[in-house]
Amino acid sequence: MSLSDIHREYQKMLANDTLQNLPKDHVFRFACPSTCMGLCCKRIEIFLDPWDVETLARHLGITGREFIAEYCTYGLGAEWRWPFVQLRHAADGPCAFLLEDGRCQVYPARPRNCRAYPLGRAVRFREDDPAQPEERLFMLPRMDGCLGHRSARRWTVGEWLTDSDLHRYHTLSDLHLALVNYAANELRSREWMHISTAQMMLPFLYAPEILRARLGIPETEVSHEEFYRRRMRALRTLLTEVAAGLGYGPQAGTEYAATAGSLMDRVRPILAGVE
Ligand code: SF4
Ligand code: SF4
Repeated sequence: MSLSDIHREYQKMLANDTLQNLPKDHVFRFACPSTCMGLCCKRIEIFLDPWDVETLARHLGITGREFIAEYCTYGLGAEWRWPFVQLRHAADGPCAFLLEDGRCQVYPARPRNCRAYPLGRAVRFREDDPAQPEERLFMLPRMDGCLGHRSARRWTVGEWLTDSDLHRYHTLSDLHLALVNYAANELRSREWMHISTAQMMLPFLYAPEILRARLGIPETEVSHEEFYRRRMRALRTLLTEVAAGLGYGPQAGTEYAATAGSLMDRVRPILAGVE
């Protein structure tokens, strides 16, 4: 079963309330021994979210756009019709960042899913309270040949999340997931999302350097995390406008939608922090 299949399975269990949630004090044993040559980093689907991409790009000293061109597949997902980014080399063989001795070249900036294993996490947004994601934490199925479970090193779930900096990754990832959820449910984006729209979204999702350069917002003035939050808000506004122009979403048919000027002009104040 591929990781996508496993993920779909957990999403189904989450939707029908059969997915258990591990408490933060649940104890498990795990540690990667140095003898493991990164078995899990070959022929594996690693999907990246926007915070993963910009963290990895910064770690490598390149732009988000360069990172995607060099290391990723970028496209529209079949199920959600939302732009996705996947590590290209890892899908077909060894990950581009797997070193010969089995270590990860980008370990401090490794993606959310790499840092979480063997823990999995599923999130859903309830219709009555879409601002509050509901999470479930669980142990993923053991990978064949993985030596990590033989370790005597004990962790609580809470310790694992803290040690892997997952609280921050999850918080930022959820902002993106909330946007996907809003677009799919409120704007019915699956009916009109097109690859050209995905290209327009790329700077907001994965290439913040383009927006910073265009609007003159240096990293010294606005932190990466703050700019990420602004980008997610700006993209929500932008997609609402695009949807309205096509007759979808809360602004469809309004005068506001009909008189929309340049989309970039509409989101400029959000990105500049002067909404
Ligand atoms: S980013 Fe690092 S941990 Fe993740 S698959 Fe690649 S080599 Fe492995
Ligand atoms: S998670 Fe398992 S397979 Fe991957 S490096 Fe650790 S011990 Fe090896």
